[in-house]
Amino acid sequence: MTPRTALPPHIADLPAYTPIEPFEVLSARIGRAPQDIIKLDANENPYGMSPRARQALAGMDWPHIYPDPESRALRAALSGFSGAPAENLLPGSGADELIDLIMRVLLSPGETIINCPPTFGMYAFDADLNAARVIDVYRDPANFALDVNGIRAAVQKHQPKLLFVTSPNNPDGSLIPDTVLDQLLELPVMVVLDEAYIEFADPAHLGRQLSRIREVPGRENLIVLRTFSKLAGLAGLRVGYGAFPGWLMPTLWKAKQPYNVNVAGSVAAIAALEDSAYLTETVSMLVAGRERLMAGLRDIPSLRPYPSHSNFILCQVIGRDAAQLKADLASQHGIFIRYFNKPGLKDCIRISVGRPEQIDALLQALSQAHRAR
Ligand SMILES: *Cc1c(COP(=O)(O)O)cnc(C)c1O
Repeated sequence: MTPRTALPPHIADLPAYTPIEPFEVLSARIGRAPQDIIKLDANENPYGMSPRARQALAGMDWPHIYPDPESRALRAALSGFSGAPAENLLPGSGADELIDLIMRVLLSPGETIINCPPTFGMYAFDADLNAARVIDVYRDPANFALDVNGIRAAVQKHQPKLLFVTSPNNPDGSLIPDTVLDQLLELPVMVVLDEAYIEFADPAHLGRQLSRIREVPGRENLIVLRTFSKLAGLAGLRVGYGAFPGWLMPTLWKAKQPYNVNVAGSVAAIAALEDSAYLTETVSMLVAGRERLMAGLRDIPSLRPYPSHSNFILCQVIGRDAAQLKADLASQHGIFIRYFNKPGLKDCIRISVGRPEQIDALLQALSQAHRAR
C-alpha cells in the first residue's frame, strides 16, 4: 500500500494547500519592518483589540488549567450582546471551526450542500474535507444578489442538507434582503447564515437591528454564525460563535472538541464585549473609513468599486492587469490587498478598510499606479 492509496479518495483529492505567509515572514521577504507594512488583505481589524482585552489577557488567572468545555462565562456574555439565549449559543475556535462542525454532524459522505459563489471559500473547503457534494448556485454578476429561483430549483433537484449564505457577503459586501432570506427559510433545508461582518452594516446598533440571530430559537432550520475576528480585533486568538436550533444543540455538544475555545480567547472575548464603547467607536471609525475609501476609489478611472456594507471594498479592475497591480502595491509600497481570479471575480481586488493614514497611503499608491500605467 503506497501512502497515497492509504488515503480516502476525498482526502487524497483535496486541492493543494496554498501557504499563507505570517506577518514576520512577509516582513523579511519584502525587507520592510512589520510596522511599515499595510495589511489590507484579510479584513482584520486595524485598530486591534480593546485595551481592556489586553489587560484581561495579561491578568489571566488560569492559563495552566484546561478551559471550560461549555464556555459558560463567554456564552452568558454573548447572550447579552447578541440577544440570543445562552442555551442556543456555541462558541468555537473561530467561526471556521463551526462551519466544519456543522458539516460533520449534519452530513453523511456524499450528501449535498448548496454554495452561492462568489463567496467565502471555507464552505467549499470544508465540504471537500467532509466528502460532501457541492452544488454552486452563482450570484448575479452585476450586483452579487442571490439567485433565489436557482436556489429553490437546486433544493428541489438535489435535496441538499445545508445552504450556506453570507450577509454581508465576502468578498463584495452586499446584504441579503430580509424578504429573500424569508423565502430561503421556507425551503426544506438548513440555512446557515454567516454574519461575520453584520456589525459593519449597522454600526449604530452593532448588528442588532439587521441580524437574524434572535430568530434562531424560534425556527428549526436557521443557524447564524458570527466572529470576534473582524469586529473585535481578535483574529489571532480564534473566537467565533454560532446560534443553533435547540434540537441540534445536544448533538453539537457531543461532537465538538471538548476544549475548542482556549482560555486566552475566551478571556479576551469577554473583556471585548464588556468594552462596548470601544466596539462602537472602532466600528464607526471603520464605517467612516469605508465611505472615504469608497469616494477615493471612485475617483480612480481604472477601478470600479462595488457598494459595501462591510469593512472591505471589492473593485473591478478595468483596462489593466489586476494581478500586476496587487504585486506592484506590495513590492513598491508595502501594501497588501487581495486579488481574485476565479469564476465571477475576474480581475477583481478586495481592499480591507484600514486606519485613516493607511487609507491615505493606499489611495496615493493607487493613483500613482494609475498614472504610471
Ligand atoms: C473571516 C470570515 C469568517 C471566519 O472567521 P473566524 O472566526 O476568524 O474563523 C467566517 N465567515 C466569513 C464570511 C468570513 O469572512
